[in-house]
Amino acid sequence: MLYFDNAATTKPDEQVLRRMDEAQRECYGNASSRHAPGRQSREIIEKTRKELQAHFHLPDAAVVFTSCATEANNLLLFSVRQNYLKGSKAPNVVTTKIEHPSVYEAVRHWFGDKSAKIRYIQTDVKGNIDTAHYQSLIDENTALVSINHVNNELGTKNDIAALARLAKEAGGEVIFHSDIVQGAGKFAYDLKDTDIDAVTLSAHKFHGPKGIGALVTKGGLRLYPLCYGGEQEDGLRPGTENVAAIEGLRAALAMAKPTIGNDEQIWQMNHLIRTGLESNMKHIRFNTPQAHEKASPYILNLTINGCKGEVLSRMLDEEGICISTSSACSSKKKVSRVLTEAGMSREDAQNSVRISLSRHTTEQECQKLVAALAQNAERLRKISKFTK
Ligand code: PLP
Repeated sequence: MLYFDNAATTKPDEQVLRRMDEAQRECYGNASSRHAPGRQSREIIEKTRKELQAHFHLPDAAVVFTSCATEANNLLLFSVRQNYLKGSKAPNVVTTKIEHPSVYEAVRHWFGDKSAKIRYIQTDVKGNIDTAHYQSLIDENTALVSINHVNNELGTKNDIAALARLAKEAGGEVIFHSDIVQGAGKFAYDLKDTDIDAVTLSAHKFHGPKGIGALVTKGGLRLYPLCYGGEQEDGLRPGTENVAAIEGLRAALAMAKPTIGNDEQIWQMNHLIRTGLESNMKHIRFNTPQAHEKASPYILNLTINGCKGEVLSRMLDEEGICISTSSACSSKKKVSRVLTEAGMSREDAQNSVRISLSRHTTEQECQKLVAALAQNAERLRKISKFTK
């Protein structure tokens, strides 16, 4: 099998699975119990918390372990809402229409009740933020800015430190949040001297287990739980902790470390796919920006005229090659919200696919993908012409 859907999820590393298996077998104590097995479980949780704090260069950060990034995003958004509801002014929230559904839909849920105004930043068709428009939306009443680091469908990368600085310059008490799910375990994050207040991540996107995410905040923002019934995670995430998954997150991050910030090899493979497809196909257009500072090398989104992405990805699936049409969390939608909100026509969005790489992707796999994609797209174009 050739797996090119790493933005949806990644294969857990063997070492991660071994560490989780050991944790399941040996650290079965409830982390809230005071006896030795309980203390052993507690140790794993606190060690992972410390390693995350060190990873972000924030020794005093609040780290809340959640079941996934979707929950972590909701926890942050809900907390911002609870904080401003105590104030007298109705604030505004600034975000984009091309966020992952766990931010886009959650913003609409938590702030769409008229207690706040949602302001959307204009982006171009490749997902680049219009900085002047962004600045014009922020004022002293802005409670929250939420912008992802890497767009999960387009692969567009934002300069979140610069965007956070601009948000603070407006003079209000704004919280700057970034969903870094597609960047964590791939890029370095030194948040110490930045204006970024909160980030959210998920272990299954960097060869860790599913079912574990985290919200990391600098402090200063009071957090409020989404559910009640226990004191775990400072009462912010009640329920017995998933110690094995937390250990899996820690192991996955440790395994990612040697390649973090060192993405030359991934860029080479990204380039191989881009140039390979361009030289083999006439009707192709890349939707991901090409400049290294504007894109993640792990994601390539492209449109092929006359080729329905859904059909093309099914054809490749039959050959054991996995790519996707959009975010796994919105795969039931007929057309990608992200692509159409970025300004793409419905037809182009339907003719688009996403290829996503991991640090384990090989050159040979990329070559096979290029050949299979070009061949199947040509076949599909011929059939589509015939059936029109
Ligand atoms: N944010 C982004 C950018 C994502 O790509 C995803 C997963 O696709 C999520 C959030 C949600 O992550 P989780 O599956 O951990 O809820």
